[in-house]
This record gives sequence, C-alpha cells and structure tokens, in this order.
Amino acid sequence: MMPKHVKDLALHGKKVFVRTDYNVPLDESGKVTDDFRIQASLPTIQFLLEQGAAVILASHLGRPKGTVIPEMSLAPVAQRLGELVQAEVIFAPDCVGAEVEALAAKLQPGQILLLENLRFHLAETDNDPIFSKQLASLADVYVNDAFGTAHRAHASNVGMTAFFVEKAAGFLLMKEIEFLVSAIEKPVRPFTVVLGGSKVSGKIDLLKRLAEVADNILIGGGMAFTFLSAPPLNHNVGASLVEEDRLQFAADVIDLCLAKGVNLVLPSDCIAATEFSETAKSQELPIRALEGDLMGLDIGSRTIKSFESILDGSKTVLWNGPMGVFEMTPFEKGTRAIAQKLCDITKQGATTIVGGGDSAAALSKFGLDGGVTHTSTGGGASLELLSGIALPAFEALKGAK
Ligand code: AMP
Repeated sequence: MMPKHVKDLALHGKKVFVRTDYNVPLDESGKVTDDFRIQASLPTIQFLLEQGAAVILASHLGRPKGTVIPEMSLAPVAQRLGELVQAEVIFAPDCVGAEVEALAAKLQPGQILLLENLRFHLAETDNDPIFSKQLASLADVYVNDAFGTAHRAHASNVGMTAFFVEKAAGFLLMKEIEFLVSAIEKPVRPFTVVLGGSKVSGKIDLLKRLAEVADNILIGGGMAFTFLSAPPLNHNVGASLVEEDRLQFAADVIDLCLAKGVNLVLPSDCIAATEFSETAKSQELPIRALEGDLMGLDIGSRTIKSFESILDGSKTVLWNGPMGVFEMTPFEKGTRAIAQKLCDITKQGATTIVGGGDSAAALSKFGLDGGVTHTSTGGGASLELLSGIALPAFEALKGAK
C-alpha cells in the first residue's frame, strides 16, 4: 500500500507542515556550498503555493544533539531558498514555542515560513510525543518530503504524523521511492550494480538482496579487498582495508552469486600506495602483486576497462560507493571513470541511479551532477530501502490519525 501523494490532498487555504531535508553543507562563512537538497524540495513547495496553501518548512542540519549551535542554524538555507523561489522566506527563531506559534498563526496562503533546526531539541531524535504535538499544532496538513531521514523514526517524520488526518508524501519522497523500488523490483535488464566505499558492513542486507536480483555486481573501493581476501580467492592484499570479521560473509556472497548465475566482478588491478595522502607516491599494480605495506586505494585501468564494458551493455545501473579514495587526486581516477560512464550510458537510454552519500558527492566533485537519471538525496535511506527494509517515515504516512 502506498501513502497519499501531496497531489491527492485538498490544500486551498490550508497550513501545510512540510518536513524537508535541508541537511546541506555550509562553508566557514555560513554559506550553503551545495544546494542540491534545497533544489530537490522545490517541486513540493511550488505545488503547495500554487494550490493556495501556507507552507511551514522544517528540517534538521548536522548533529547539534539538543543544543543550540549557531553554526548549524538554518538561516543560510532560508536565504538560499528565498533566492530560488524568488519570494520572502520568513525565518522562525525556533521550531516550537509561543513565538513560532504566533508566526505560524498569521502565515497567509502563498507565504513560506522556515523553522529553525529541529535538532536544537533533543526531543526531535527522541521522537518525544509532547514535542511532536507542539510541532503538529502549527498546521492543518502534514507532508513529508525528507527522504534523507526516512530511515529514522523521529518526532518530525514519525511522531507528529499521528496528529494528522490529512498527510501525504511530497514529490521528492515519492520520486525517490519509485526510482529505487522499481530499479530493484522490476529493472530493465541487464541490471548492473556498482558497489564501492570503504566497508562491507552496512551493505550486508543489500548484497544479499542484490545477489537475488542483479545480472552483474561490480565491486570496487575498499570493500573489494575483503572479497579478494575471502575464500575461495584468498589473495594477499598487503595493507589494504580488510574486514576480517566479514570474510565469511564475503565468501557466502561469492557462493550465492555463483549459484544464482550473477556475474560478480572484482578488481584485477589497483592503484596502490604505502600512505594515505594527497601527495602519496602511487603505482598501478595487479592485485596479485600487493604485499607488505602496500594498500590498494583505487581500481586500476584494466578494472576500469572491464567495468566500463559491462556498463556499456547495461540498461539499468545502480551505483553506491566510490571506487577509491576519490577525495584525493592520486586515487580519484576509477570513481571519475565510472561516474563518466554512467553519464554516457544515460545519454544512450540507460536508467542510472546513484544512491546518494559519497557517490553523489563524487558526481558533484567531477561536475557530473545532472548527467545521471536520478541521484538520491539520502545515502543511508537509499541503502535501507534497496535492502528491503521498510522506512519508518514512509510507513507512518499510511497510518490513521
Ligand atoms: P562508505 O562510507 O563505506 O560509503 O565509504 C566511503 C569512503 O570509502 C570514501 O570516503 C572513500 O575515500 C573510501 N574508500 C574508497 N575506496 C577505498 C579504499 N580502497 N581504501 C580505503 N578507503 C576507501
């Protein structure tokens, strides 16, 4: 069962509380350095304004853990959002309390009010019912459009939904769910998954599920070395990242892929160095040449070629996790090549989905943001959804008052 879509609600003259995800990066002067998540919230906001609703926006930013940290204020977001919608965004000094209630009460249709950081109150992450009720008292209708926190059960995305009869998912939340669920449940084949990042842990449920549905699984990044060290491969990978306590799991995934006929591809070469730094002296080596204090910190050119040729023949691609330490110039090439290939095949008609987090940061670093079909705004939430875990915030929209 799906929750209602915001398009299905009667909104004229209503005050609508929208949980957005404005957890955006800020520079030292407090300016928003990447407004991807603010842009992603615009379809819902614009729709609500067109329908004649008054819009109350709320989000968290960072992890202030219940204290007011001025550097984590949403004031810079209010400014950037105002520029994007070309309208005034009224900024509330808090998210609950008498002053906020007064601002919400006099808000008129067509106006936007942004509340201060929800996590300045510990009650938000505690999913405190009194706090939930206070937030809910500000509006008539509830909309959740924050995919990035949908895997958490907090006051603003789960607790407060119990106080509303009229509640729905916004355009972004619905789009995220539709893209990710349809990719994994009914992909146009061949369906290829590219996985990377540092660790296997955190991707265990995902790997188990993917081994049931993917045609190809390409593994790069630090996590590849746990697979390469696991039986039956048993490679010496030098000082590369290996999770000893995940070796058996990796071996099981290799077996499962063999049993299911999934083409699991691991790196055959890598860019190796003895130190983890921007100025490290690096060399390209076959995996079998790794030993001693050498660490594999990116995939090598033979691996890039083999990944690229599989991607060329793919119709649906899901990418989660960088191929190497892309933050450092000597180890960015593999991630850049995969990002570029995803953009190329998108132009040829493939559906390409990037699972948020570090892969989204990599796309942005290489200036390729707009080149894939869909970039998720939530790393953790997308991993859980793809792993088949229900998202509490999405489920909460289905419940009665
Ligand atoms: P995760 O948080 O598990 O998605 O991992 C993302 C991080 O993995 C990025 O910050 C990368 O720098 C890092 N990473 C990617 N490849 C490697 C590698 N071969 N060795 C160590 N770290 C890596």
